[in-house]
Amino acid sequence: DANIYLFVRVARLGTRYVLLLAEDRTESYRLDEVRRDFVANISHELKTPIGAVGLLAEALVSASDEPDQVKRFAKRLTKESHRLARITQEIIELSRLQSADGLAEAALVDIDNVVSIAIDQNRAVAEFNKVTLASGGLTGFEVFGDETLLVLALDNLISNAVQYSPENTRVGIGVRHRDGAIEVSVTDQGVGIPDDELDRVFERFYRSDPARSRHTGGSGLGLSIAKHVVQNHGGDIRVWSQLGHGSTFTIRLPEIDPDVTNATGDKQ
Ligand code: ADP
Repeated sequence: DANIYLFVRVARLGTRYVLLLAEDRTESYRLDEVRRDFVANISHELKTPIGAVGLLAEALVSASDEPDQVKRFAKRLTKESHRLARITQEIIELSRLQSADGLAEAALVDIDNVVSIAIDQNRAVAEFNKVTLASGGLTGFEVFGDETLLVLALDNLISNAVQYSPENTRVGIGVRHRDGAIEVSVTDQGVGIPDDELDRVFERFYRSDPARSRHTGGSGLGLSIAKHVVQNHGGDIRVWSQLGHGSTFTIRLPEIDPDVTNATGDKQ
């Protein structure tokens, strides 16, 4: 929104002049607001699974004589507790990323390696969902960054692509060099994202309608985490999508400045 918050001080200088000091506090006000929202969202997100765990535990106690029901409740209990554990883990990761101004540990990272690890992490779920994961050949491109975080970002994109795709479709992962950046893109033939929601999918806890109606059990934090990782690398993340046809998420990372790497002797 376009509100500006000014902190104004007025001082009289003699009888003829008044000194006005205005300090722009918009940013700190906005950050306070973001923090308040974050806490409210976390509480809201945790309330549902915590409530479910409580109810299921009670149901288990009263169904103790009926093995089939016990099994059913126990299964749902396990699912809800996994969901709780995942959301908590994602919140921790996100707040760590938000408080970091850059990268604590950066080194040369082989992008092909990042792609192959992230694909491997999604292979089992893709197979289960009958979605084919396909990537291009090796590129040999390197970026400067934190491999674990880059894998985390790409893993979130690939797991979304798999999650939001129907059976017998394909998710393609490609790497290329363009306009001074290394681009990694993930393209799916899935449900797509409505135009008016494209800007919002990177917001914390945001879930679009098609995703919500699919009950995928996501937290709405994955893309926010990916965005923070990429921003901490000095890059950006973009999305293109057509409702009902598919989406492409592209991570852009700055290419390595050859002068800098030559000078430090890190490369060659
Ligand atoms: P989650 O997937 O846990 O809900 P994310 O932050 O990863 O949270 O994604 C936010 C929302 O963006 C999702 O709920 C979904 O609506 C939408 N989205 C993300 N990736 C895709 C995709 N590949 N296809 C369609 N919708 C997507």
